[in-house]
This record gives sequence, structure tokens and C-alpha cells, in this order.
Amino acid sequence: MDFAKEREEMIERCLKEGYIRTEWMAEVMRKVPRELFVPVEYLKDTYHDDALPIPPFTDEQTISGPYTYPVFYESLQLRRGDRFLEIGTGSGYGAALAREIVGEEGKVVTIEINEETYKFGESNLRKAGYNDVVVIHGNGSEGYAKGAPYDKICITAGCSTVPQALMDQLNTPGKLIAPVEAPPSIRALDFDQILELSEKDENGTINRKSIRPCNYVPLRNSCS
Ligand code: SAH
Repeated sequence: MDFAKEREEMIERCLKEGYIRTEWMAEVMRKVPRELFVPVEYLKDTYHDDALPIPPFTDEQTISGPYTYPVFYESLQLRRGDRFLEIGTGSGYGAALAREIVGEEGKVVTIEINEETYKFGESNLRKAGYNDVVVIHGNGSEGYAKGAPYDKICITAGCSTVPQALMDQLNTPGKLIAPVEAPPSIRALDFDQILELSEKDENGTINRKSIRPCNYVPLRNSCS
């Protein structure tokens, strides 16, 4: 398997299809070897466009499709120096990309509710050398007040509404992106959620913008 070649081809596809909009984002995607975040059983599919199963291999955890991350991070305008919170660590791949963006002057905190997934994600991040990413086992709906406020927050699982605790932990100004339950007309087209960007301005007023229909595993509310 020539991972470097497959990575480059994946980036080219994302650019062509408009998922990656800037050369800067393409450069970030080049830096993180996705193969370090994929279970051995699925290594050959590392650079396919789809989400892949991760421990404990039920329907509730995946490493999201590669195009997810540029859509999240370009919409959030994630930048060097940002304090960033991710809900749903999964494989750790999204946290690794975020760390490449925010740099050592920023901060990445990521929360995973499933214990087995948490261990998988944390060990992937450490093996790949991302030692200062804070990985928490817990319920991300409650956020992580100790690290607040966050300039940018990303929820990588589908929720009915954005949990209030996360809105409260968002900086003023700040941006949050989340797949939010879609209305019946969109669900009829086989999309469970709409990716929604919430922008908090200097006065704390929140404006919401729909980005695109999407399908993510559900956000759970209690610890396993
Ligand atoms: N960002 C991940 C994608 C993970 S899929 C990656 O790059 O691989 C969504 C993850 O959210 C799953 O691992 C699931 O267990 C987790 N999750 C679901 N509800 C959660 C909650 N309330 N708090 C934290 N994590 C949650």
C-alpha cells in the first residue's frame, strides 16, 4: 500500500469536489497520516471516501469520511492559536488535524463517551506524536468547563439541539459547528442531520447558518 500516494489522491478528490477550498487546508491534510488512526482490519480502505468502523465496532462509532474535516474546519475558520473543543474523539484523526491547525500556541481538548473508543483514540494520538492534545473520557454534552472558554467547538455526532453547556463554554466571539437533526423533508432524502454553524458575536448574540445535509452517528447523553 502506497499511503502517501493514496493520501495525495484523496486530497485531490476533496479539492475537485469542493470539500477542500484552500491550499492551506490541503497542506494540513497532507501532514496527518490517516493510516495511524484506522484499525488494522480496515487499513486498505484508509483513503477511501467513506467512514470506517472503529472499536468497539458497533454502529455508534466511526472514523468519519476524510472530507468531513475540511468542511468542519474551514466553516469554523479554525486558526493558529485557537482554543478548540471536539465532542466525539473517535479515532483521534480529527483532533490531530485540529492540532496541526491551532499549533502549540493553541489548545485541543477532545471528549469521547465510549471507553473503548476513548482508549483507541488516545493511543492513536500518542503514537502519532500528538502528546499535548487533552483527551477526556466523559459526556461531551456537558463540555469541559475546566478548559473553557473555547474559540471554536465541533460536535462530530448528530444531536437534536446543540447542548446549552457547549454554547455557554463558547467564547464571545466564537463559532460552533454541529450536525443537528434534520426536518422530515430532509430526512425523506435520507439525511439524518443538517450541518449547522452557530456564530456568537462580540455581544453574545447567536446567528445560525445551515451548511449542508449530512449523516453522523448519534450524540449520546449518558456515560457507558
Ligand atoms: N471525530 C471522530 C469521529 C467520531 S464519530 C474521528 O475523527 O474519528 C462520533 C463519536 O462521538 C463516536 O466515537 C461516539 O462514541 C462519540 N459520542 C457520541 N455521543 C457522545 C457524547 N455525548 N460525548 C462524547 N462523545 C460522544
